[in-house]
Amino acid sequence: MNHPRHPRLFGDHFLTSLTDEEQTVVQRVRELCRDTLGPNAAEVAQQDVFAWENFRLLAREGIVGTAFPRRFGGTDARQQLRVRIIEELGRVCSTSASLITGTDLSSRAIVAGASEALQEQLVPGLCTGELQAAFGLTEPEAGSDVRGLQTRFRRTSEGYRITGRKKFITRASTADWFVIVGCAEDDPSTFLAALVPRDAPGFSIGPEVGKLGWYGVPISSLTLNDVAVPASHRLGAEGEGFSLAQDALLRARIGHAAMALGRAIGAVEIAAAYASDRSSFGKALGEHQGVQWMLADMVTSIEASRALLALTAQKYDNGDTDVATYASMAKLQATDLCMKVVTDALQLTGGRGYLQDFPLERFFRDAKLNQIGEGASEVHKTVIGRDWMRRARSAERNPCLREGSLVDY
Ligand SMILES: Cc1cc2nc3c(=O)[nH]c(=O)nc-3n(C[C@H](O)[C@H](O)[C@H](O)COP(=O)(O)OP(=O)(O)OC[C@H]3O[C@@H](n4cnc5c(N)ncnc54)[C@H](O)[C@@H]3O)c2cc1C
Repeated sequence: MNHPRHPRLFGDHFLTSLTDEEQTVVQRVRELCRDTLGPNAAEVAQQDVFAWENFRLLAREGIVGTAFPRRFGGTDARQQLRVRIIEELGRVCSTSASLITGTDLSSRAIVAGASEALQEQLVPGLCTGELQAAFGLTEPEAGSDVRGLQTRFRRTSEGYRITGRKKFITRASTADWFVIVGCAEDDPSTFLAALVPRDAPGFSIGPEVGKLGWYGVPISSLTLNDVAVPASHRLGAEGEGFSLAQDALLRARIGHAAMALGRAIGAVEIAAAYASDRSSFGKALGEHQGVQWMLADMVTSIEASRALLALTAQKYDNGDTDVATYASMAKLQATDLCMKVVTDALQLTGGRGYLQDFPLERFFRDAKLNQIGEGASEVHKTVIGRDWMRRARSAERNPCLREGSLVDY
């Protein structure tokens, strides 16, 4: 990889596991960030309308296609490459990063569960950005607890009739196709997923809803009123709707972690530059021990979290069975630390950081959603704690202990 004029504040050590071809992709993303996406990020984030220019650029450059199989024009990138791409984008522009993680969320169930014919029809267009999908899981009564879904699939001779409501759906205003997840009307424990086209009779999309950050990827609600869907548009088998959604969420969680780490890295770069340019009490701000300690906490936690994410991406690529727990850990760690790092970085830049013509104000607003979307931090803590208690029950005991139950120790 070519090195720019100045070395980066954070080194390139996480690139060593990539092939030369993969490193070239990262290099291209860096150029896009340096020349276009970074300089335009503030403008893109001024209003919450879909960031078509960024999306088309990322599609044209093959970055959107990293999520799709080669046989349909994608590059089926390893997660080890995807996290590096998303981190680069997140370092300058959350909108661009979320366009890539959102592609996984909205399209993964299509790649994993659509019939070959439907994939042939849709995936090439999803790769080039000519088509867009959205992922409809969350409902008024079911957010963190997706098993409370109220959307119902009624079986008919041709397929299904779907009735339900969805909320907070990213890309609803621009998507051509919607992945809708719900339950069988006669058996709420059977989860189904199906593809619904934007113009299906009985399907309506609500107005965009204003939000705190993540501008450029608007959200809306959906209403399905007895929408007819042919059986050929079902994704996966009956009963697989939940696992298809989980796979999309798993990849999107890894993406959230990468985006959050990218943003945290960007925030530290900005705060450290400010601390080196700005003087206070007769010396550079960054020469005060209190500032150095804040910086030390930030960079140490970021590098530790990047290592956890790299391990998680590797586990995904290897098909390891414990990857879901690691994705939860990586997302929990990276998104919580991003919120803290961005807050501290803004603090270090004083009044300048609080103003809208400085990137940290945007970073600060964007950081919050990573702690909520694709599973709130508290939900991931529950998942992790439960899984590690399950592991503890059958794990090797520490050799300092005597044999037997600790109840009678
Ligand atoms: C900008 C944006 C984009 C989104 N895009 C999409 C999309 O494209 N598709 C889609 O389907 N959804 C989308 N969502 C929905 C998102 O995934 C949910 O908001 C998220 O899963 C949390 O669900 P909820 O908002 O209903 O929160 P709730 O379930 O009401 O939870 C509220 C809070 O309670 C706490 N909590 C919940 N459960 C527990 C627990 N068991 N233990 C401890 N604390 C708990 C957490 O702090 C949580 O934040 C989007 C949301 C936003 C804001």
